[in-house]
Amino acid sequence: MPDVLIRATAHDNQFRVFAVNCTAAVQKARDLHDLSPLATLLLGKLLTAVAMMSWDLKHPQAEVTLRVDGDGALEGAVAICNAEGMLRGYAHNPKLLIEDKLKDNFFIGKHLGKGTITTIRNDAKSKPYTGTCALVSGEIAEDLAEYYLQSEQISTAVNLGILIDKDARVRAAGGFIIQQMPLVSHDNAAKVGSGGSASASTMPFADLQVADMLSSNIQATPNVSDLMDMGYSIEDILSKFVFKGISWQKHEEKSIAYACTCSRDKFSKALLLLGKKELSEMASGIEPVCQYCNTVYVFSHDDMINMINNL
Ligand SMILES: [Zn+2]
Repeated sequence: MPDVLIRATAHDNQFRVFAVNCTAAVQKARDLHDLSPLATLLLGKLLTAVAMMSWDLKHPQAEVTLRVDGDGALEGAVAICNAEGMLRGYAHNPKLLIEDKLKDNFFIGKHLGKGTITTIRNDAKSKPYTGTCALVSGEIAEDLAEYYLQSEQISTAVNLGILIDKDARVRAAGGFIIQQMPLVSHDNAAKVGSGGSASASTMPFADLQVADMLSSNIQATPNVSDLMDMGYSIEDILSKFVFKGISWQKHEEKSIAYACTCSRDKFSKALLLLGKKELSEMASGIEPVCQYCNTVYVFSHDDMINMINNL
């Protein structure tokens, strides 16, 4: 099954839904950075989440960053997705392996320790918006749900699943984000009347019932990556488990992939920002490496002299 990102709504647009299969992208991240199982799980979850968070980006150069920083040995990771579904990222301690307790290699929260989860939304037009929240468990899904609640006051269900073999081959990576759209509360429904949600005013308890049903469906849904490994598509998972008994509608889907946005031109521009003095110290030539895709850009002595002379 190819990597795909889905946007949907449920129960008369009262819930917005994002779901993703990004198995190939997480495998590519694992291979590029030679990640240990712990780092694969951490970066895999961040890539899965940020892919879904990228949906409402509009400008072609807009991108969203999701990063986690912890005081534990795993340290953290960064994942970015742009408006075109190009994913990239890196882990701060990519090779961390717990040799004495093999089971520990599957619990990222324990090795992240105390820390923060941060999102940076860059719409490519105005100053980037940054929001940060303390980690709750370090298992990412719960942390992101708490981030949405604290920073954006949106009740959100997040499910992120990465299934890996002992050698860190990625068998399945995927997840979903479901957000309750802002609604009139049930207590206020009668007062708001036709100005509010039609179903809230005509069926005062329908939303609460559906929210409860959705919540128990989500709790009863087996791990998304286990289901994907059994052959369920991300749409099957939504239909047969998450929205069992609840109407939902897919609106759009788009492909996503691990793909870096770096270029020699971008590195040149970044170097020019350093100014004449710093560039002169590198006049013998440098070979910067892209931390997202490991591409090496060679700037020879002549290239550096040209750059300095053009400043
Ligand atoms: Zn790159």
